[in-house]
Amino acid sequence: MMTAADRTLLLVPYQPSGRFSQRLVPCAVIACVLAVLGAWGYHEILPLLLKSRQLSFFVFISAVVFGTIVYVATLLSRLRNVAIGVGVGMTAALCFLVTSQTLAGARAVRAGAPADLVDNTRWRLNQGVQTTRSTAAAKRTVSGWELAGYWSLEAMVFLALGSLAGVCASREPFCERCGKRPSEQLWTRTAAKVSPAGLRRMKDAQTIGDLVAADPEPLAARSRPVVFTANTCKGCGELMVFSVTAPSTGGMFTIGGSSRELHENLLLDPEHEQALRAGLDEREALAATEASKPLSA
Ligand SMILES: [Zn+2]
Repeated sequence: MMTAADRTLLLVPYQPSGRFSQRLVPCAVIACVLAVLGAWGYHEILPLLLKSRQLSFFVFISAVVFGTIVYVATLLSRLRNVAIGVGVGMTAALCFLVTSQTLAGARAVRAGAPADLVDNTRWRLNQGVQTTRSTAAAKRTVSGWELAGYWSLEAMVFLALGSLAGVCASREPFCERCGKRPSEQLWTRTAAKVSPAGLRRMKDAQTIGDLVAADPEPLAARSRPVVFTANTCKGCGELMVFSVTAPSTGGMFTIGGSSRELHENLLLDPEHEQALRAGLDEREALAATEASKPLSA
């Protein structure tokens, strides 16, 4: 049974310690080298797509691939400092953007542009690029401020995704005692039917009690299951975290029906674990009694 003390236990999110290891420098360098190589490929493919509608899609996909590289490199570096994570992402993004612009400048020089950085950039802005919005539309030259606007947009997308990847990776739970991530699944529990109001309450929950409280509208039709997953460090088993998700109940392609993260990486010490499991047992027992009640009541 859940005690009153169990109910008022606060949910504590995992906080990165702010530390970093000696792996940081090599991993950041690898991310930057990959960014430079990626920029080279990007620069080769981009002119081929200027006249097609896939251009913005290509830029977006490239930024996502870039973000993934930064994420993995930061994860492998065992970084637990969000500010440094932003720095790694920004540095890699700058490596990418500078390489891509340098290559474009070099290409312009071969086409007759001046080699000086400022003059070269001005030449490329004046020259513009030929593009078409759709297959039916006439060719259009994008130049001057408009082109500068597109360049800034491109830069912002890469800088934003790079720093986001750095932040996300450095916030991942990490056991500093063993140098491992809490990757081993300890247990999962499923609350079978949670109504939309119940989901909202779980999302806003501050305590274990709020999280496992009985559903406010038990007979709601639009209910979905909620899964509680506890993970632990394989090495020492001391660092435990748990997440609460509402997986999609619809088909694979249901719009808006995708898995919903309610809570991520909450710390699970033995006290929290015992309270949470007791609370879930209680919730389950209550749901069973509700279900066995005659419908005519
Ligand atoms: Zn450990």
